[in-house]
Amino acid sequence: MLEIKDLTHTYADGHVAVRDVNLTVANGELVSIVGPSGCGKSTLLRCIAGLIRPAEGQVILDGRPADGVPEGLAVVFQDYSRSLLPWLSVRDNVALPLKRRGMSKAQRREAATEALESVGLAAAGGKYPWQLSGGMQQRVSIARALAYRPSLLLMDEPFGSVDAQTREDLEDLTLQVRGGNDMTILLVTHDIDESVYVGDRVVVLGASPGHVRADLPVDLPGPRDQISTRELPEFVRLRAEVGRLVRGVTETTATAAK
Ligand code: ADP
Repeated sequence: MLEIKDLTHTYADGHVAVRDVNLTVANGELVSIVGPSGCGKSTLLRCIAGLIRPAEGQVILDGRPADGVPEGLAVVFQDYSRSLLPWLSVRDNVALPLKRRGMSKAQRREAATEALESVGLAAAGGKYPWQLSGGMQQRVSIARALAYRPSLLLMDEPFGSVDAQTREDLEDLTLQVRGGNDMTILLVTHDIDESVYVGDRVVVLGASPGHVRADLPVDLPGPRDQISTRELPEFVRLRAEVGRLVRGVTETTATAAK
């Protein structure tokens, strides 16, 4: 569904943010992208979202080179307070992008109501974003993305600014909604546990400039559970492996140091 080929991006000041990134994501897959701060995670997502044109390389979607913002794309950013419009009700925020889908007003309203229900906010449609807690606002952002029925959903540190309990709820919500929809998801996070818990694969990026350091399959049974999944030996093993990779210590050097 998504193919990133030899992607290199250099910003206007000459800074090479990512170099020679190659990545293939299958239809319906959820790929976690994890790496240290500044390793180019957001740059990569922005290239895929068509918000910046990579200096070199290609983003191929459904077999065609992407040019601009892809049709079936939705993005959830970390900063919900800047991504929702304060002068629109929660329902209107969710319904707004659906205009691009050419839906009638009634259809937009119905789709927004349904999406809000799916994130447990059926009663909040008439409220304004600023009347809701941070976690609820982020659920509205997720509902807005879902209502759009994206074929590709990009999430950039989507749960970074909510409390731990809400974060777990939102991770489970993501897994749940993805199960019911034919959606490919790329989720950027700096949280190693989260990358393993939600992912079908974890792609670890290294820094200076950003590059793919490892691409690990996550072989954990579903449905995942916040308590029992995290206790599984495979989860513990993967978490340690990703942790070592993120910190730049490979298995071999770790062993050699003993
Ligand atoms: P991450 O999301 O992993 O924290 P980013 O993609 O935001 O990393 O940034 C990668 C690198 O590119 C960093 O060194 C950052 O300082 C730099 N960078 C990001 N945006 C710009 C920009 N607009 N101009 C120049 N350098 C940038």
